Amino acid sequence: MDAEKVRIFLESLSDEQTELGNRKDQEEYDQQFAAFEGAYLKGNCYLCGEDFDQMRTDSPCTHWLLRRTKFKKKDFPKIYEKYDYHNIAAFLRWCANQEKPLRNINDLKEEKAERKIISYTIKWKNIEWTFDCSRNDLAGHGNGFSSYPHYHFQMRIDGREFLNFNDFHVPFSDRDLFMFAASELPTVRAGFGPGGLECSRL
Ligand SMILES: [Zn+2]
Ligand SMILES: [Zn+2]
Repeated sequence: MDAEKVRIFLESLSDEQTELGNRKDQEEYDQQFAAFEGAYLKGNCYLCGEDFDQMRTDSPCTHWLLRRTKFKKKDFPKIYEKYDYHNIAAFLRWCANQEKPLRNINDLKEEKAERKIISYTIKWKNIEWTFDCSRNDLAGHGNGFSSYPHYHFQMRIDGREFLNFNDFHVPFSDRDLFMFAASELPTVRAGFGPGGLECSRL
């Protein structure tokens, strides 16, 4: 998946298709966000329907990362096998913004080194989540479990180590890769929309 292929795909869409797509994205975003917010204010997760302090082992969910349960390090793969990077990041961003709008996420472009694809921290209550991906990680490095496109994830609770960058090489989904390729195009606005995906042609 590279920017050139994505560009060709997006340019193959008619203006009508693009406009319809953008409108559907916006509607879906609004719907999802309303569902998220309504549930959040009641301490409930709109993705799985459980309260934040509940975890059902047969239904892994991003809300486990809020750590209102006995969620353990070894449970993390169950979450990323089900939700991709954009899903997880959108949910955590939405939570952080509920607490302190626009102040809990430091992903200012200037802070990001050139060799990084992703590098930012989200704060929520006593927790900090940091996403990190270098060009190397996106390409895949070494053999075996790190040779595919992946990111690294760190989680601190009350300032203490809980998950460390080197614990996991978290694979990106095809959709994630599409988004990164698209975001390199000057004609595309890519960001966090419905379920973490927003990509529209300008
Ligand atoms: Zn949930
Ligand atoms: Zn890596």
